[in-house]
Amino acid sequence: TGEVERRVVAQLLTMMDGLEERGQVVVIGATNRLDAIDPALRRPGRFDREIEIGVPDAGGRLEILQIHTRGVPLGSDVDEKYLEEIAKNTQAFVGADLLALVQEAAMRALRRVLPDINLDDDLIPQEKLEQIVLIRSDFENALREIGPSAMREVLVEIPSVKWADVGGLDNVKQEIIEAVEWPITKPEKFVQMGIKPPKGILLFGPPGTGKTLVAQAVANESNANFISIKGPEMLSKWVGESERAIREIFKKARQVAPCVVFFDEIDSIASARSSMSEDAKVSERVVNQLLTELDGLEALKEIVVIAATNRPDMIDPALLRAGRFDRLVLVGQSTREGRRSIFQIHTRNIPLASDVSIDELANITEGYVGADIEAVCREAVMLALRENFNIENVDMKYFMEALNKVRPTLSENLMGYYKKIHELFKGGMPKEETSSYIGYR
Ligand code: ADP
Repeated sequence: TGEVERRVVAQLLTMMDGLEERGQVVVIGATNRLDAIDPALRRPGRFDREIEIGVPDAGGRLEILQIHTRGVPLGSDVDEKYLEEIAKNTQAFVGADLLALVQEAAMRALRRVLPDINLDDDLIPQEKLEQIVLIRSDFENALREIGPSAMREVLVEIPSVKWADVGGLDNVKQEIIEAVEWPITKPEKFVQMGIKPPKGILLFGPPGTGKTLVAQAVANESNANFISIKGPEMLSKWVGESERAIREIFKKARQVAPCVVFFDEIDSIASARSSMSEDAKVSERVVNQLLTELDGLEALKEIVVIAATNRPDMIDPALLRAGRFDRLVLVGQSTREGRRSIFQIHTRNIPLASDVSIDELANITEGYVGADIEAVCREAVMLALRENFNIENVDMKYFMEALNKVRPTLSENLMGYYKKIHELFKGGMPKEETSSYIGYR
């Protein structure tokens, strides 16, 4: 800090120390950067009470909305119920954001009526004034414009993926619902039954099997915010500051809880801390920070961490110990039934010719993962369009052709590798020596 600041702080300290206890003067300071404050100010006798004013929850948001809509003419379709709905769907909005939302909706209401009003008239007729009411669509449109300001640096989103968009993977879904959705939506059950829900879940399996999709779906279905971090991206975006990135991410998660934090390709940031290279040192610091954050998370505080990897053998075993990522879920090969539903999902909007048999497609696509199947469907449409741009339906033959172009991701070898790891994980947490034995082929 500069000379001036130092003098100001010194002066402030002198003045505050000179204040009589229980005198008639109270000093209140406000900040959004607590850490930047001179510690000398944060001692007893000076600013000795610290009150955190966090982001409001749904109940708080409703009250704030009620306050800001009090003097505003609302349409009959904007009732108490609707306000409750808005409050529920505006996670991480702070008071200022909600005020901005109401103002934006009001602007839209005004704009709807404005063309009918002659501004040159001295008096705007009463019945025109009465037409200016905020209706649902005003709020809906405003919601598209106004976002929560607490979400700026670390990107927080609310994914639109539902369980209905995830095909197959029934076991995985069940495990995730138990480990993520229940603790977030029904925490009292865990308290009542006397157990702690897991803090972290590691999804592992071949690429394209739907790990990201599952994480997004569970966040959406539990009405939680979603912070998604791609391992390699984090390393490049926050060069030399990866530990700070981890701290920021968890800080943001606490602000916007309930929140699912998703680390994709976690192997790239949390590989085993063994070798001596420069990369390994960065990784070591990141892992340590991650451990600190995970250990510091209180169970049932509505933050769940999900990580995904296709190289589970690379991950620092310290992360997999109890109280950290202690749920390990294999997201592997889908069954025929699973492939059928994945085909159904991805052909939902494709006009299919009557000869297309989803059953048949599911039968012959052993080894295809979700992403492969999505690619097959896209390719089939492209092939059909290439042949005849005015085609109305996509025939089975295009799907067959597409199957020749898109090869399955999974081979026996690859599945064997994941199964071996799965077995290993089942027999307790991986031991440090054994984890390096299993090579990736
Ligand atoms: P991963 O994270 O396992 O590498 P993703 O979840 O990113 O894979 O999957 C990539 C895409 O493949 C998804 O956006 C989705 O369109 C499709 N996909 C993968 N698995 C499934 C599935 N089980 N059901 C439906 N679509 C899937």
